[in-house]
Amino acid sequence: NDIQLKPFLLQTAKAFEQAYNRKISFNCDETSIVRTDEQKLKQLLFIFLDNARKYSDDDIILSCEKKNQKVLIHIQDFGSGIGEKDLPRVFERFYRVDEARTRQNGGTGLGLSLAKEMADVMGIQLELKSEKGAGTTVTLIFN
Ligand code: ATP
Repeated sequence: NDIQLKPFLLQTAKAFEQAYNRKISFNCDETSIVRTDEQKLKQLLFIFLDNARKYSDDDIILSCEKKNQKVLIHIQDFGSGIGEKDLPRVFERFYRVDEARTRQNGGTGLGLSLAKEMADVMGIQLELKSEKGAGTTVTLIFN
């Protein structure tokens, strides 16, 4: 179905803020419409927002833009980041970066592998940029 990007993202941000009591800075001024399953997209965003929440302490930024005719959604955090050697592996099932912070958070290491599978089915491309100690940005690219 057709989703109006801005109101949808705003609503997702609000729902997340209420559920987890964590501030999301919203930065999206697009009139774009994307064609995809609304529930699935929300679930996908929640996986990334949830990681941003678990692995950072500061506000999370949810933003959108249009670049080269394509709609992009970014989820950015200023948390622990992911080291170069782990970055190519975090989409694998059960893979977790071996750090105290990760262990404390008691996840399963399935979140990102599920996200990758969902994104593939939905025809959404994922990009992960991360710097150790600085933070992480996940980008969803619509075709
Ligand atoms: P869960 O399955 O409950 O989400 P998880 O968070 O460990 O558990 P993934 O979401 O698959 O699993 O993430 C895999 C690993 O990638 C995490 O254990 C963490 O080390 C790292 N990671 C993911 N997102 C971030 C992020 N935003 N900042 C820092 N590290 C991250």
